[in-house]
Amino acid sequence: MEKNLNVIIEKCPQNHKCPAVNVCPVEALIQEGFSAPRVDLDKCIRCGKCSNFCPKKALVLE
Ligand code: SF4
Repeated sequence: MEKNLNVIIEKCPQNHKCPAVNVCPVEALIQEGFSAPRVDLDKCIRCGKCSNFCPKKALVLE
């Protein structure tokens, strides 16, 4: 079964620039303002880097 990256919006405080955006090697994370980032699943290679990086565990690869 293919994994998907889910953004758990309730876990993201949405009050800062998402540092995980710069961790993604394929620019699949998009943040507008301080909102929780969105994932472009067409670009995402499911590498898990953002998931491991987010201190709030708001990015979940499952
Ligand atoms: S899993 Fe990897 S490719 Fe997908 S959004 Fe996160 S860092 Fe980017």
